[in-house]
Amino acid sequence: MLFSRQTFLVAGLSRSGIAASEYLLSKGARVYCFDDVEEGSVAATANSLRDRGCVIIRKSELEARAKECDVLVLSPGIPVDHPLPVAFRRMGKRIIGETELGALALRCPCVAVTGTNGKTTTVTMIDGIFKNAGMKSLACGNVGRPLTSCVEELGEDGVAVAEISSFQLETLYSLRPHIALVLNIAEDHLNRHYNMENYIYLKSRLLKNSAESEYVVLNHDDPVVRGFAEKTKAKVVWFSCREPVEGGYLSEGCFCYMGEKLFPVSELPLDGEHNAANALAAICAAKLMGVRSETIVSALKTFRGVAHRLQRVGELNGVTFIDDSKATNVDSAIKAVGSVRGESVLLLGGKDKGYSYEPLFDAIKTSGIVHCVIYGENAFRILNAALKKGFTAVTLCRPFDVAVRVAFLTAKPGQNLLLSPASASFDAFRNYEERGDRFREMLGILSAEGEVRQSVPSPVDDDALSE
Ligand code: ADP
Repeated sequence: MLFSRQTFLVAGLSRSGIAASEYLLSKGARVYCFDDVEEGSVAATANSLRDRGCVIIRKSELEARAKECDVLVLSPGIPVDHPLPVAFRRMGKRIIGETELGALALRCPCVAVTGTNGKTTTVTMIDGIFKNAGMKSLACGNVGRPLTSCVEELGEDGVAVAEISSFQLETLYSLRPHIALVLNIAEDHLNRHYNMENYIYLKSRLLKNSAESEYVVLNHDDPVVRGFAEKTKAKVVWFSCREPVEGGYLSEGCFCYMGEKLFPVSELPLDGEHNAANALAAICAAKLMGVRSETIVSALKTFRGVAHRLQRVGELNGVTFIDDSKATNVDSAIKAVGSVRGESVLLLGGKDKGYSYEPLFDAIKTSGIVHCVIYGENAFRILNAALKKGFTAVTLCRPFDVAVRVAFLTAKPGQNLLLSPASASFDAFRNYEERGDRFREMLGILSAEGEVRQSVPSPVDDDALSE
């Protein structure tokens, strides 16, 4: 791509849009930037990009200016059927994402991870193992830094551990990972991809450039992912929690790889079979990159987890608060209710993504969930699913803060208060991090209120208060 002779329109000024603009400027390209939000922090970003040489395009001039551009760099947040990319396609022009720019520029091996759930956890595990092995590894893509901003630092001797989402896969064509991992496929983002066929097709695109000399690591326990083996020329390495496979598996309570016993599952500091699966995927990637077993084992045994993923954030009156705000779909919430030990009150709700909540209540009925407090824009859809499945220990209340209070009052000492919402956060928050942070803040608020209540003198001796 001859950057210096081309004009790029970068649409969407989030983290990846900023990184793409900076990268293109550094290559001497002409860069136009557009975001349909023109106030607040986006305006500040636009001003700073203008100072560095970008041309900021207003909504009113978009149509005319788009004609001057050769390539559209689309934010993963903007769907490919939005009027802007549709107009570019009609003009016969290229549409790429920031990750595609990074893929074109990358000079070192890449381990790429996709799947519906577990990407960030697995990428963080792999990056931790590589760093433990003294490798120049960077976690990038959908987690950590955008790929374009890592390319120079990685050089030729680094290794990019890239999390790749289905949104990124819509505009990614050139990435050829040395190792491509597909963790699992469950219903998600149907409001964006319309149906499972599209979603599965997008996930399979991660493997499309892999040649015989490369590896794909696939989840043998997931029937859809298992089918991907037929679509690739690369060498397939499997992982499974259920049976011994050519790759990583569990046997006699231990993590194993190709016949070698590594360490007991009980020594992984994360709960749940899904996290054992993530660790197996990470073990496969590390082994294929030639990392020694001791290095893998010590990194995984000391893995500290990732914030907002089944994270214990504190305790109040014997109730343990667990933040799983990143459970933004049904499958991840099913994994949470199946892996949290003891009894829990579950907080559920948020923005709907177009799937059924009924499978979640099948799982809840056989789990330690004693009560659900439902809030958010999709509260009535979730309530309907609960009642259809005959689960009646539910309270519906809004907004979020009230729901947390009610859930806390419902939980008994010894139980957990689990935020695993099975929904996106955008009905009330900027993102899942903000929702998880508010949950933790509510713990602080409830704790402070408890202290105030205890310090107020008892009114029983006060004549003025008696009737
Ligand atoms: P992603 O980056 O794919 O969203 P995360 O590692 O951030 O994945 O985890 C997102 C949610 O999914 C969390 O609630 C987490 O507990 C859950 N989760 C993690 N790994 C898995 C897995 N392998 N299968 C299902 N759910 C998972």
